[in-house]
Amino acid sequence: MTDRAGEHSHSHDRDSHAHDDRGRDAAGFCSSCGAPLEPPAGPGRPQVCSGCGRSHFRDPKVGVGVVVHDEEGRLLLVRRGVDPAIGKWALPAGFLDAAESPREAARREAVEETGLDVAVGRVIDVYPGEPGSGVSFFLAFAATIVGGQLMPGDDATEVGFFPLDDLPEIAFASTRAAAGDGA
Ligand SMILES: [Zn+2]
Repeated sequence: MTDRAGEHSHSHDRDSHAHDDRGRDAAGFCSSCGAPLEPPAGPGRPQVCSGCGRSHFRDPKVGVGVVVHDEEGRLLLVRRGVDPAIGKWALPAGFLDAAESPREAARREAVEETGLDVAVGRVIDVYPGEPGSGVSFFLAFAATIVGGQLMPGDDATEVGFFPLDDLPEIAFASTRAAAGDGA
């Protein structure tokens, strides 16, 4: 088994999720012997320790989120209270934890950020991570409201429904794509 623990030595608190640490992961030090890691030879190739020769693989960071429309077809968005793209609007979304089911993670993020409980349905699409987002790829689910009360929470400072032809300033291009694909 390859040792992936070293790549996860950074904090897993929610704020750390806001930062793009892919660049930092690309350097780094061996979790076995502490020597610097060589850069990977190519995509899918590990970083190799310059000291003990051990291979270190980098794990992708998976974003999950929900596309929710109200009865008028308006899109549920949250205003981001953290960087990147602080102050801009995005789908209710967050990072998948390693032990979590993707749909359960998407539901959790929706509940935390919007106060609404949702039933998570089909996968709309998988979108490549955008530069600076800290996400390797983003998995968008269609979801429907099953309960709760609209109230911003967690990293969201505001929450609301917007007509697709009159969206506020959007943080990530995948939001518009997923909203269109999930309409
Ligand atoms: Zn080493």
